[in-house]
Formats: sequence, structure tokens, C-alpha cells
Amino acid sequence: MDSKVLEKYIEAGRIASRVRDEAHRYVRPGARLLDVCEAIENRIRDMGGQPAFPCNISVNEVAAHYSPLPMDNSTIPPGAVVKIDLGVHVDGYIADTARTVVLSPRYEDLAEASRRALNRALEMVSDGVRFRDVGRVIEETIKSMGFKPIRNLTGHSLDRYIIHAGESIPNVYERLVMGRFRAGRAYAIEPFATNGLGFVVNDRYVGIYSLAKARVKGVSSFDREVFEAVKNRFRTLPFTPRWLLDLGEPRDVVRSVERLASRKAFHRYPILVEAGGGMVAQFEHTLVVLRDEVIITTKS
Ligand code: MN
Ligand code: MN
Repeated sequence: MDSKVLEKYIEAGRIASRVRDEAHRYVRPGARLLDVCEAIENRIRDMGGQPAFPCNISVNEVAAHYSPLPMDNSTIPPGAVVKIDLGVHVDGYIADTARTVVLSPRYEDLAEASRRALNRALEMVSDGVRFRDVGRVIEETIKSMGFKPIRNLTGHSLDRYIIHAGESIPNVYERLVMGRFRAGRAYAIEPFATNGLGFVVNDRYVGIYSLAKARVKGVSSFDREVFEAVKNRFRTLPFTPRWLLDLGEPRDVVRSVERLASRKAFHRYPILVEAGGGMVAQFEHTLVVLRDEVIITTKS
């Protein structure tokens, strides 16, 4: 890997890990999810990075993809299991990292299962290691603590301005997964543990979108303005309508984004909820694999 590229991955990781490590300060019962996410995104910018995707704050049985819309007044309930998943990019090179903050001692084991699975996985990664062997270790670690891994959420390869660059790192053993970690590439590993059924389903709420088309035809001038702003500001990276509020009233921006999504100009990322309503914990790190070394860019 080019040393300039590696430096950018490392810088993104340095910012992401610091913001992640201080995120628990914002996670209090009664705190608005919106305020937590805005504080996190602002910290990323203050430190010289750009958010690579909207801050995700997923509570209890919500496993992933909850990023509050502008008018969202929901708050953190007492005793909650709160996943904070954040991304930073420097010139398009991404650090993707997550942690779980548990507000009740009841769920500390659940969080520990995910944390331990991630650490075991990281210990075994090197150039040439098969994804499925990492999946096996994640599954075994989580099951040995009495929980289930979420089988339809995975880690992933990363590329410049691309969060899911085509390869998936399973959280369970999958015989048919042939891929291997390769020198010169970046990956995120993210085991999810649950006391529910072990898979997620889409729910209705959507707070995250990304560009799906290079151009749109036959839309209003306001929708065109929104579309062009997304293209110029975020390229292919996910975004939230919150990052477009300089263009109009919050309600109008949200509606415009939804209209453009209905025309397939934007992808929608609905929230993902544990199918059995189980509690969910997640930890995630980004790593760069080199020929004889692995750099965990988001390590504390
Ligand atoms: Mn993530
Ligand atoms: Mn990820």
C-alpha cells in the first residue's frame, strides 16, 4: 500500500478511535439521540476529519442504521444497550468503528461476548487468512458465552469513498465463503451478539441514504438542488438529511430526499432490528493488512 494512503487510513483511525472512546460521555438516560449524534459528528470535524457516514445510534433490539432525522425527539431509555457506530474519512480513506455502551449491568455479558469475539478475530488476521475461519472464531466465541451472533450482518472490505467494497467477513462459519484477507487492503470486522434469534430484519424508519444515480431528470428545482448537493458533498458515501439543512426547512429537505429515493436516485438504508426482539451488542474495528503486519487503525 502506498505510504500516503496508509497515512490517511491511520489518521482517519486516530480520529475515529478518539471520538468513539469519548462517546460514552454523551450516552445518558434521557439524552436525545439527535444530540448524541450531532455531538459525535461535530467532534469528528473539530479533529480534522469528515464523517464517512451519519453517526449510528442503535438502541436495544435495533442492531444498526439508526441515525436520527432532524425532527427526531427520541431519547435513550433507562437501562438501554446503546451501539454507537461512527465513520471518519480523510480524503476518502475510511475508519469504521463501533462500541456498545450498556446502561444496565444485566447486559454486560452480552457486550463482553461481542467485544471478545472482535478481539479474538483481530488476533488471527493476517495476509492470506480466510474470512470463514474468522467467522468461525466469532461464532464460537459468542456462543460459548451463551449468546448468538447475528448471521446476516457482516464485516466488510473498505475502499476509497466506499464503505462496503464487495467482500464480506461473516460473523458465523460459512463453508462456502472462500475469500481471504489480502495485503494492501482495508477491512472492518464487526461481530454482533444477541440474546434473540440471531438475525435482523428491516424496519420502517429510514435516516440514512446514499447516491444511487449520476443524474436525475424531470424533478423540481429544489429536488435538483438537493440531488446536486448530495453528489458534490458526499459522493458515494452515506448521508443524512441533517447534513442538508442549509438548503431549506428540515421538513422540506426530508421530503425532498424521500422523493428522490422513491425515484431511485438515492438508496435507502432502513434500520435493522433483531428478528426476535433480542438485545444486541456490537464492537467494530478497522484494520489495514500489510504483507507482514496488520495495523488496527481504530485501536485506542
Ligand atoms: Mn460501522
Ligand atoms: Mn462497518
